[in-house]
Amino acid sequence: AAKSMGRNNYRVYDVSPAQEQQNAALKARLRHAEGNGELRVFYQPQINAGTEDIVGMEALLRWEHPELGNIGPGFFIPLAEETGLIVSIGEWVLRNACKQAKAWEDRFGLGLRIGVNLSAVQLMQPDLSEVVATVLQETGLDPNQLELEVTESISIKAAPNLMENMQKLHRLGCHIAIDDFGTGAASLDYLRKLPADRIKIDQSFVRNIGVDPDDEAIVRATIEMAHRLKRGVVAEGVEIEQHLQFLRANHCDELQGYLFCRPLPQASFERLLAERERL
Ligand code: C2E
Ligand code: CA
Ligand code: CA
Ligand code: CA
Repeated sequence: AAKSMGRNNYRVYDVSPAQEQQNAALKARLRHAEGNGELRVFYQPQINAGTEDIVGMEALLRWEHPELGNIGPGFFIPLAEETGLIVSIGEWVLRNACKQAKAWEDRFGLGLRIGVNLSAVQLMQPDLSEVVATVLQETGLDPNQLELEVTESISIKAAPNLMENMQKLHRLGCHIAIDDFGTGAASLDYLRKLPADRIKIDQSFVRNIGVDPDDEAIVRATIEMAHRLKRGVVAEGVEIEQHLQFLRANHCDELQGYLFCRPLPQASFERLLAERERL
């Protein structure tokens, strides 16, 4: 049994020798993915629950492997974390996303927020805030338009530099969102201690709206708690009209999910913004 750090938690699982070999090959290949131009950033809109205007977008990484086709981040990000490659890949995503957000700002002037996911490995890098500051300077993006999404996969106490990093990022003027809220063991601790502006309710709760009254109660309570703490709330994984109605009735601020739009390649997202502008 190999112990490996997954996206959201520590998992213990058995890896077959064949799987092990494939992972090793993928890791070796991943080392060159950026240089080979195989990485892409997709964008998924975030919608104001009341007006249905686009208020921002989340940057989601894709790897176009020449033989295997599109590999999802849920699969290759753990490999990037194990090899430490996530630090340079994460910086590449950040730079690309900020550059793109600035280009859209110059063209459309909508003040859209760009959400960028940070891995636990990045959150522990002592120079994280310097990297972010440099990218902001290079791209000219207003720090207010950048939102860094952090998951509660690690305990604050066990993670060196995490608190300082968050405080420094906040001082730069960036926003912080707690991703996958409610799924980690440390949700409330994160909420109490980190300078978070927004909570993202995990899709595992949203999916059960209309199905599981307990999960509905958790969604409702999370929204109310966030508002009492003066934080914004985004619901992820909004797939059907029933989710939308429930979240609206319970005053969720923003929504993200297939009901509105899938993550789109840059050119398609740009068309979406251009169309909206014409309306
Ligand atoms: P996440 O941050 O929770 O991102 C949301 C995921 O839900 C995305 O999956 C998105 O495509 C998917 N999604 C959006 N709307 C819906 C919906 O209505 N229904 C369902 N079922 N799914 C929906 P994706 O793009 O495969 O990314 C998976 C995870 O990989 C992300 O989860 C995030 O944790 C990680 N990830 C993606 N890009 C990056 C990155 O640049 N850096 C890091 N460190 N992690 C990333
Ligand atoms: Ca996210
Ligand atoms: Ca999430
Ligand atoms: Ca997730």
